[in-house]
Amino acid sequence: VRDVCGRIRRILTGETAENPFAGLAPGTIVVAEELTPSDTALMDFSRIAGVVTARGSVTSHVCIIARAKGIAAIVGASECMLEINTGDKLIINGEMGEIIVAPDTATERRYRALSASRKRHGEHCLKGAHTPAVTRGGRRIAVLGNAGSVAEVHAALDAGAEGIGLFRSEFLYMQSRGGFPGEQTQFEAYRHAAELCGERPLVIRTLDIGGDKALPYMDFGHEENPFLGWRAIRVSLSMHDVFRTQLRALLRASVFGNLRIMFPMITSVGEFRRAEAAVRECMAELDAEKAAYNPGIELGVMIETPAAVMVADLLAAEARFFSIGTNDLTQYVMAADRGNPRVAHLCDPSDTAVRRSVAMTLAAARSAGIEAGMCGELAADPEATAWLLEAGLEEFSVSAPAVAPLKERIRTLDLPEVRKTPGAAE
Ligand code: PEP
Ligand code: MG
Repeated sequence: VRDVCGRIRRILTGETAENPFAGLAPGTIVVAEELTPSDTALMDFSRIAGVVTARGSVTSHVCIIARAKGIAAIVGASECMLEINTGDKLIINGEMGEIIVAPDTATERRYRALSASRKRHGEHCLKGAHTPAVTRGGRRIAVLGNAGSVAEVHAALDAGAEGIGLFRSEFLYMQSRGGFPGEQTQFEAYRHAAELCGERPLVIRTLDIGGDKALPYMDFGHEENPFLGWRAIRVSLSMHDVFRTQLRALLRASVFGNLRIMFPMITSVGEFRRAEAAVRECMAELDAEKAAYNPGIELGVMIETPAAVMVADLLAAEARFFSIGTNDLTQYVMAADRGNPRVAHLCDPSDTAVRRSVAMTLAAARSAGIEAGMCGELAADPEATAWLLEAGLEEFSVSAPAVAPLKERIRTLDLPEVRKTPGAAE
């Protein structure tokens, strides 16, 4: 209804552009109450220098997307918003969370110098982007990339990623105008991504919609707690045709590279089994149609709920790999909404409770002999690298701009012994 009202209003007022971000001048900083993932899908990032929002926290999707695009973002800035007017000159420092409105010349000069020195550091890191990350102790660590589109797969591989550890398939669904994207559209995107990766792994996560990620053509109804509601694998398991379409496209694309399928927000072995059964059904259909797919395709689980951590040993006995999604895992372990700035201090992925959850997951994977990576934003935090290595993490998946700096960070660390006791990491 809101969308229809918006359309009517736009037509009556003579506005033709449906995209509120069309025609931005290069170097624009977008300042908004809130930016949803579908807003960001409309934005031309070549013209956007940064984003500032009143809502959100560092792991909300607007931040994740900004990081992927290599632009600065400040979220949870509600108090500063009143002081900013359209057309103001702004400086934003995403690292320190600073916003400077109408800077004087000396301030502008200082920040230009800071920005140039950041750029030089980035260029230094880029020199080692395409060489492996080996700790001083000689341990080889895999650094993969996160992507939300085929273009971002390209960007991550160009930035030195050794494969894609998380392909967020929902952006394909958000960009689809006329309803759910069909099997052929999806197949072409997955095939393209698989071909780009070649032998390198490409982990595609099935539709992770709900929570803060909506689809314009899908009705979620009213939910009191959307992050605890109908989202991710729960949606897929209850919308059989939508799930089937995606799985068939993934399976058909699996012969074009090293494609793996990962299920989001798993909370029990039963859920994983149901997802796996849906894959087997699609395989049987493809067999009947004599269509090619990889019968040995690996199926993995995102560990992003406390329940999954608790049953990580049981999941590890059935899944072929884990990827730890610390963005959601942190909000669920800490009971602190990842998009609410008032509880952002609690939504801390370095909290002992989250560290223990990570250590328990890695220990369960190690005992079962399966791979476990991390694709949440924590993987890119240079302050977390040492303890993650210490807890035994061997595969990091981060946004394209973070690949080279992370490899450089790993090279500076001696790798301490992997702690054997689950939950020992403090
Ligand atoms: C996560 O939850 O850590 C994750 C990688 O998934 P998303 O941020 O897309 O929810
Ligand atoms: Mg998640």
